[in-house]
This record gives sequence, structure tokens and C-alpha cells, in this order.
Amino acid sequence: MRNLYRRYLSAVPRWARLTLRAILAAFILFVIIDAIFPVKTSVEYSCQILANDSTLLHSFLTSDDKWRMETSPEDVNPLFIRTLIMKEDRWFRWHPGINPVSVARALWQNISKGERFSGASTITMQVVRLLEPRKRTYFNKIIEMFRALQLEFHLSKDEILKLYINLLPYGGNIEGVRAASFLYFGQEPQALSQAQIVTLAVIPNNPYNLRLGIHNERIVGERNKWLRRLSGKGLFKQGELSDALSEPLSAFRREAPKDLPHLSIRLHNAAGYGTTVYTYIDRQLQSNVEEILRTEINPCRSLGITNAAVVVVDNRSHGILAYTGSAGFSETMFSGQVDGVAALRSPGSALKPFLYALAIDRGLITAKTMLTDIPMNFNGYRPQNFDQTFRGLLTAGDALALSLNVPAVELANRMGADFFNSELARAGFHWIEKKRKSLGLSVVLGGCGVSLLEMSRLFSSFANQGINFPLRFSKSEISGHVDTLVSPEAAWMVTEILTGLKRPDLPTNFDNAVHLPHIAWKTGTSYGRRDAWSIGYNPEYTVGVWVGNFNGEGVPELAGSDFAAPVLFKVFTVLTYNKSSTWFRKPAKIDFRLVCAESGLPPSDFCTNMVMEDYIPGVSSNRKCTHLRTVFTDEQGAVSYCRDCLPPTGYRTALYPDLPPTLIAFYEQEHIPYLKIPPHNPACTKVFRQEGPLITSLTDGKEYIIYDGSKQQLLLTCAAGADVNKVYWYINDKFYKQAAPSEKVFFTPEPGKIKISCSDDKARNSDIRITVSEF
Ligand SMILES: [Zn+2]
Ligand SMILES: [Zn+2]
Repeated sequence: MRNLYRRYLSAVPRWARLTLRAILAAFILFVIIDAIFPVKTSVEYSCQILANDSTLLHSFLTSDDKWRMETSPEDVNPLFIRTLIMKEDRWFRWHPGINPVSVARALWQNISKGERFSGASTITMQVVRLLEPRKRTYFNKIIEMFRALQLEFHLSKDEILKLYINLLPYGGNIEGVRAASFLYFGQEPQALSQAQIVTLAVIPNNPYNLRLGIHNERIVGERNKWLRRLSGKGLFKQGELSDALSEPLSAFRREAPKDLPHLSIRLHNAAGYGTTVYTYIDRQLQSNVEEILRTEINPCRSLGITNAAVVVVDNRSHGILAYTGSAGFSETMFSGQVDGVAALRSPGSALKPFLYALAIDRGLITAKTMLTDIPMNFNGYRPQNFDQTFRGLLTAGDALALSLNVPAVELANRMGADFFNSELARAGFHWIEKKRKSLGLSVVLGGCGVSLLEMSRLFSSFANQGINFPLRFSKSEISGHVDTLVSPEAAWMVTEILTGLKRPDLPTNFDNAVHLPHIAWKTGTSYGRRDAWSIGYNPEYTVGVWVGNFNGEGVPELAGSDFAAPVLFKVFTVLTYNKSSTWFRKPAKIDFRLVCAESGLPPSDFCTNMVMEDYIPGVSSNRKCTHLRTVFTDEQGAVSYCRDCLPPTGYRTALYPDLPPTLIAFYEQEHIPYLKIPPHNPACTKVFRQEGPLITSLTDGKEYIIYDGSKQQLLLTCAAGADVNKVYWYINDKFYKQAAPSEKVFFTPEPGKIKISCSDDKARNSDIRITVSEF
């Protein structure tokens, strides 16, 4: 075998063998030098933020302060590429980086006429010079040639061409055809005319003396010279040439596009230099939203309400279609640079729908379940309603639609504040996740920091059958963690409640409810009227609106219903204009049943007032209604009996409302009539072992401060059972006062630990312990 090879080799002439060896040796040497002195094959580009239709929204300078906007040969007008190749390097597609014919010609010209070594530069060699500028010397020319070979070795022709069109100098800090197209002509490079194309092909030869906007006249002369020359080579038709020759040149230096500054800066910070971000932003929608925001916020400014932010989400792609961080980025007076979509603000009541959806999934409520809206004390925390009034008993659906605070806090309390807060963390609320351990019940009323973007993501998951998708800024983003927050049934039930039109958060001056877009929505107003929110959704879109002041100043008039909701409705009117939209379909698992209207629970024999409701079989509570209970009384109904003291004759049984002590206390205080159970038989000797009256003031375990020297009094109140007539207060086991269950009792405390007891007329007793300190 070896012999055969030798014999074959000896058949090859000696000179050919030597040449082959020389080429091989040269190639190995090239590879070694290439490895030791690697050629630069990439450049840093400007960060570009593109809209949904790939048009440029916003661009940033590179880290070396250049406008160098990345583009590819296939993304510019093909005539531009043809012009460049014909003008600069006709054999570009064929040579290996150096054109031997033109090198030879240039050498000859140099020797014979003593001319400067020029004219032999290929496009590849020009790219080398643009990547690594060097002085023009013979030695550097040789380095450039070697570098050109290296570039051709590592890159394809199209990759070299791409570097070329992105590095062409246009004077100042403008590089590349895309930057030049935007900054001088204000348009995308695909849209350049023939005259503009030749202009941009001519300038890089002499960018200092051909500055667009300064030397336009000189440029036109140069342009027309080349137009004629290239047309002679068949690049344009005759008719096109005369049009191009007569085209005026009105180019001037413009600002780079600076649309959507809040979003763009956010993405630039996240993506860094050199990145092109393909967003979901819908240009037309964005400008509509900006217009709505401006016209809505202008009249508010006289009231001291100065700013607003809007975000629009596509519920299907989870992409952000519009993003307006403030009413005007340049309005420094109103801190317009602050990004209201990302800023942390208090959500007011806007988190309540999530709470109700979680409660539905835990079987605590359905829309018809009765909740109590009465003054309550949650371990010292006493929520108030927005309008400072309480409504007694009402359905969960109404409590959510009316955005009442006590039923919401009571539900959160039943579910556990920790549970609710960790569910919010799971839904993507970062501040809550960080502070979760120190947060309590107040979160449900807005005692936390949330961003408009996080709120929009939460509501978008109601539109996605309870599935929580991370929102997407860019099309290249890999989708993050997808999680089920609530069941499709709970999402649907909450959507039904939030779609109702009988509610207080309709803007008071909104023209006509009939013209409202069909959406589910919730408003929120934060403590101190600092933030107004309105977030709404239909199957296609979720829109979040925030209105307020970036300096956190509250305004007495500010309310989600009056200021944020109108913006929401207008944005939805634009979104749904001339579009037929389908509504959410009721999940198949939801069934309907009859429940007692008094409690919202499946009826007992005594329930007569029935309503139909949606419920989730296997999830919603099956507990029977207990809105009434059987009581033994004397014939007149003046005394009630228990089984121990029930006389053998002369009694009757009657049904009385079975009300919780706290509700009775509320009815007594508000003088709301209700059917009272007669006081218990005074002669009864039974010792009742149930719990005693509920002490509603003061709070067990709390410390109370009294001010030195003052005879400050503390208030004692309780809520007792319906059959209780009298209660007895004890301070440190010493009898203090007899009172009616609803009566307010005051006492003057001494500093130190104090035990307070309350017994009712059936000897049921409750104790609390407090500490009183002097200040
Ligand atoms: Zn009932
Ligand atoms: Zn009795």
C-alpha cells in the first residue's frame, strides 16, 4: 500500500510536489498566525427596541457613544447592496479577500507613476480598516491584506457584507446604513429611494467633507456623478435616472427615535448593549393610549392629580401591547421620567377579587353566601369601609362588587393572612414575597407595594382560566414559570361578579352605562387617596390603569372609580372598536342549585326564601342553612327555656333568627330591629359551658398607653348571644359594673397588667389580659 503511494507520488513532477508543499506550508503558517493574532469579527451595536411590526421604536448609543444600528443585507433595499458592490468591489463575491488583479494594477501604477498605493481595497479590506483603523503605510497595507484573508477564512461573504453596511462611516458618531437612514432621512432603510441609496453609497468615501445636512449641495453633485456612472453600467433604467437626478436632497440630522422611553429604558437596562429587542408593542394602540392618557389627565391637573400610567396585555400571547409609564416623559415638573407601570404603589381594594377567588376555591363562599359587614376587631386591627358605614348582612358577590372592607378582612382572616400573602407572592408580587413574613391582614386592603404590571398580570390570569402566565416584553423571551392560581370555576365566578353594572365604582359622571365596553373590572383607591386604580379584562385583553402623583401626595377627590375607570373604558373602547368579541364560557364543572336567601347555604326545612346560584360540586360548602333555630318559650314569648328548665306544660316552640353575637351587637348599636330571643328563664340553674360574651374592646394581649397624670379612660364593649339580657364586667376579678350587652362601659386603668372579665346572665365568662403603661 505504502509502495503504491510512493510510486504514485514519484509520478508527480518535482516542481508540482514542491508547489504543493509550499502551499501546504503557507496554509499551516496562516492557521498558526491566525490563531496567535485572531481577527476581530464582531462589533457592538446600538440597543434597538422594535415594535410588533419590526419598526424601530427607540435606539440607544453604543458604549463607545456611536449610533450603530444593526441590520442585515437582506433587510436593506437590495439596490443599496448592488450599488455598493458595483461601486466598491465588483469581484467581491469571487475573490478571497484580496483581489490579485487590482493589487497588481495598483502596484504598477505606484511604480510607474509614483502614485499613492491606492485603489486596490476590496470590501473585505475596507471592513478590516473599519474594524481596526491604522495609518496608511505599506506595512499596514500588508497587515490589512492578511487580516482580509483571515476575515474571509472565518466569515461568509454575507457576514462580511453585513459588517460592511453596519460600519460605513457617515460622519460624526453615525455608522452604518440603518443609523444613517434613520438619523438623516427619518425612515427605515427598506424605504430609501434610488437617489438616497446612491447618496448613502457615496458619503462613506469622504464622510468629513460630505456631511449630510451641512454639505448637501456638494453631496448632490457627487451623487449625480455616480448616478450617471452607475446607470451607464446598467444599474438603473433611463427613466429612473432622470427622476433620481432631479430628486432634491433635504436630509438633515435628526434625533434617533425615542418612543416608549419608560419601556425602552427598562429593556435596555435588562438586555444591555448590542441587543435588538422585538417587542409586542402595537404602534397604533400605543399612540391611542398615549392620546387618551393626555386628554384624561390634563383636566385633573388643576385638582392636583398630575400623572397616570397604562399597560395593555394580550391575554393570548401574554405580550405587552402598550406601555405608558407617565402622561409625559419630558414633564420634569410632574416627575414624568418615573415609570408608573413599574413603580411600587398601594393597590387599595384592587387585590380583593383574588381573595374572593381563593375563598371560592376553599369552599368558604359562593357568590350568594351571606357575609357580615359590621365593625370588627381583628386582634387590634379594625378595618373601616370606604364610606365609613357598615351594611350588616349581604352576599359575598355584593360585598366584592361594593368593595367592602370588613367582609374581605374577615375572609382573609378565616383563610389566614399568611396563606393569602403567600398566594400573592406566588402570583408574582415581588415586594409582598420579600416582606411576606412581616405582613398581616391589611394587605387585602392595600397595605403593601404592588406595581401596575404585577396587577395586570394577576387580572390577566382571571382571563386565562386562573392560570398565571409571566407577561412578555420581547418575542425572544423564553416563557417563565406558569402556575395555576385559582380554578377556572373560581376565575369565572369572580369574572361574573366583576362584570356586573350595579356597583359603586362606575364613574359618577360617566355618560351612559349602556355604552360601556363589555369587560370585567375592579377599581381601587389607596389609603390617603394617593393612588387610583382600575384594572379590567375581556377574553382578549387586560388593561391596567393607575392615576396619582409620583411624589405620593394624596388628593381628596382621587378615587379609582372617577379617575382611573374612565381611562380604562376609553382604552377598551379603542380595543374593541369594530370587533366582535366572544365572552368567557362557563366551565362545565359549575352546576346550579337552590340555596336559602338568608344564608346562601343549602336550605333546611324551615327555609322558605330560596334563590338559584352557581356552585362548584365537591368544592362549595354543603353545610345546611341554620338561619333559624328552635327556641322553647312560655306562652307569651317573654321567657325562654333550655331543656333543663323546660316546664312539663305551658310552653311553646318557636323559630328565632340565629344571629352571631357580633351582628346582634351591631343591630343594637345601630337600632336595627331584629327578632330577639326572650331572656332565659331566671330560675334556671344549669351551668352553661359554652363560650362567654366576645370582648370586642379592648384587645387581648395588647399594650395600652396612658399619658402621665391624665385620668384617661378605656372603653369596654362586648358582643353577647341573642338570649343574653345582662352582662357583668370584672377588673382583676373584682366586680366593676353591670350593663346591657350593647352598652359601652368605661373605666380608668392603673398602670400594670390588668385582667378583664365579662360574664353573661347565664354565667358564661370570657377573660382578656392587657398591659397598661404610662407614657
Ligand atoms: Zn335558611
Ligand atoms: Zn334553662
